[in-house]
Amino acid sequence: MLPGGVPEPVPLRDLRSLGFDETVALAVSLGAPKFRGEQIWRWVHGRMVDSIDEMTNLPKDLRAKLAEIATVGTLEVAEIQTSRDGTRKLRLTTRDGKSIESVIIPDGEKTTQCISSQVGCAIDCQFCATAKLGLSRNLEPGEIVDQVYRARKLLAEVDPGRRITNLVYMGMGEPLHNYDNMIASLRILTHDLGAGMSQRRITVSTAGMVPRIEKLGREDIRPNLAISLNASSDEVRDEIMPINRKWNIEKLLGAIRAYPLEARRRVTFEYVLLAGVNDSLADASRLAKLLRGIRCKVNIIPWNPHPDAPYQRPSAAAIDAFQNECKRLGLPTYLRTPRGDDIDAACGQLANRSNGAQLVQLRSRS
Ligand code: SAH
Repeated sequence: MLPGGVPEPVPLRDLRSLGFDETVALAVSLGAPKFRGEQIWRWVHGRMVDSIDEMTNLPKDLRAKLAEIATVGTLEVAEIQTSRDGTRKLRLTTRDGKSIESVIIPDGEKTTQCISSQVGCAIDCQFCATAKLGLSRNLEPGEIVDQVYRARKLLAEVDPGRRITNLVYMGMGEPLHNYDNMIASLRILTHDLGAGMSQRRITVSTAGMVPRIEKLGREDIRPNLAISLNASSDEVRDEIMPINRKWNIEKLLGAIRAYPLEARRRVTFEYVLLAGVNDSLADASRLAKLLRGIRCKVNIIPWNPHPDAPYQRPSAAAIDAFQNECKRLGLPTYLRTPRGDDIDAACGQLANRSNGAQLVQLRSRS
């Protein structure tokens, strides 16, 4: 109760964050038949409307009742930067004024969107710009899916021939650290009556939260799995990814070997190449040995620079030599050329920075 006996206002529920069954239940709780719930779902996730007013096939009184208890969460597109390679970075603002980033990467017929799962990140990988922000908060399911809807709407305007075909949870944050909301967002995005994306075209990437990898393996929803391995020894991994002190390479790869991988699928290992840190031929051979027997491929990501990090990208010759050694040892290896690095949109560069204006809030280390 507020002073004067005024009841606390009930926060509006975000329709964008509700699952299909929850949406139907909400409609039913307002006295509407079930099919109204399905209609609401189609508006929110199929047509991607931004307000209840737009749901024109609902009776007016249902719309009014709905507006009393719910809203349609929408991120505000605060800024769009376009790279010379066609990559677009969206800076999006949440309703509580937080900034997140999402990147649209055209690649031939394919268009991949890289989405964020948290505002900032708690994992503290030494080479990553997002880590410097610290964790501000988890994103709600609606905030995760709305990144896709904002991107779809943008493409419809600026590049109507293109559709988002693939999704990677590789933006800001550690998706498995925001597990429930991440799973909820996957269920929303893959629902046939809504966004209708295919699980096979969605990849969730983790720095290696082992118990959550095991949990993901028990879900009925099966995105592709990517692991940011980034080192071939615990000694180096401990240093560049402190999470390794909790779950070391052996525990991590144990979880991957036990992961119930579907037929014809492979686990992706990401390997950020840092000059003089993890890019030797000995690293390549240890890596090949570690991954032996795992159905996988390795994406080599030459380090993308950002301010205040004590690393360097290896020379082209060193990158080549590392990749060739991996291949020679039978490891399927792909070199990820940086996309959008001129607008700080490449892997590990997402830190709410734009045009040199530093919007980052450095973590206060206590
Ligand atoms: N937290 C999750 C999702 C982020 S994915 C994860 O760690 O998997 C982001 C990827 O970019 C990770 O593979 C990370 O290792 C890589 N990365 C981070 N900083 C980078 C940088 N500066 N240059 C190149 N890759 C980087």
